[in-house]
Amino acid sequence: MAFASPLLSVTESTPVSIRGRLPVGRVHSVESAGMLDGPGIRHVLFLSGCPLRCLYCHNPDTVCMKNGELRLADELLGTIARRRVFLKRGGLTLSGGEPLAQPGFVKTLLAGAKALGLHTAVDTSGHLGARADDEILALTDLWLLDIKSFVPETYRRVTGGDREPALAFARRLAARGRPMWIRFVLVPGLTDAVENIEGLAAFVAGLGPAVERVEVLPFHKMGETKWALGDRPYSLAATQPPTAEAIEAARVIFRAVGLNVF
Ligand code: SF4
Repeated sequence: MAFASPLLSVTESTPVSIRGRLPVGRVHSVESAGMLDGPGIRHVLFLSGCPLRCLYCHNPDTVCMKNGELRLADELLGTIARRRVFLKRGGLTLSGGEPLAQPGFVKTLLAGAKALGLHTAVDTSGHLGARADDEILALTDLWLLDIKSFVPETYRRVTGGDREPALAFARRLAARGRPMWIRFVLVPGLTDAVENIEGLAAFVAGLGPAVERVEVLPFHKMGETKWALGDRPYSLAATQPPTAEAIEAARVIFRAVGLNVF
C-alpha cells in the first residue's frame, strides 16, 4: 500500500495542529517484531533522550539525545506502511529513552500510524507528560506508563527526579479516559518496600477504569554491559533479580485493591 504522507510544509497558513508535528527526530533503534510493549506484535521505535537517570535503566545508551540517529518520519512511516498487514495484529509502539522528549516527532509518527489504521502505544515514565498535548493524547490508543515508585524519596533515589509529574500525567490520562497499562519495576532493596508498593497500588486503583492492567516487571541486569560503555557507574551490580515469591507478593498487593495484574 502506498503511504500518504501526513507531513506538510509549515507555512503561516498551516493549522496549529499540523505545526506541532516535526518531520525529523532522533531514533536510537528499531525493533520490528516486539512482543513486550503493547498488545500483539509491535513495530517499536526507540527514541533518544530522557531527562531521568534510573539506576536500573536497561537502555542507558538511549538517554543521551546525541546517541540517536537523525531520521525522517516519512522514511520510518514508509517502512511501517509496507508492514501494515503484519502490524494489523499489533501496531506501533514509541519507546525509548523517553518519547515525550521529542513531542513534535512523536505526534507526526502517531498521526502517520493512525492514518494507516494501526493501533498506537507510547511507553513513557510520564515525567514529561506535560509535553503531550491533547492531540497526542487522542492519537495514542494505549499508554504504557511506568511509575517508578510511589514513596517520593524512593522515586528520587531510583530516577533522580520528582514523582509528581508522573502522577499528574496519570491523573490527566485517567480524567480523559485514555487507556493505560501501569508498569512497576520491582527491584530488591530499592523499590520493594511494602509501603512503596501499597502506596502505588492505592494510587493506581484510584485512577479508575482507564487502567486496564498493572504489570509488575522484575528487575534484570540485561543492560549491565551497556552501562560499562557509559560514563556513569552501575550501582546495582550486586543486586539480584527478585524471587518468584517476591514478585507474586507484589502482585498480590495490586490485586488486593481490585486491579488487573500481570
Ligand atoms: S525513564 Fe526509562 S529510559 Fe529514562 S532513565 Fe529511566 S528507565 Fe532509562
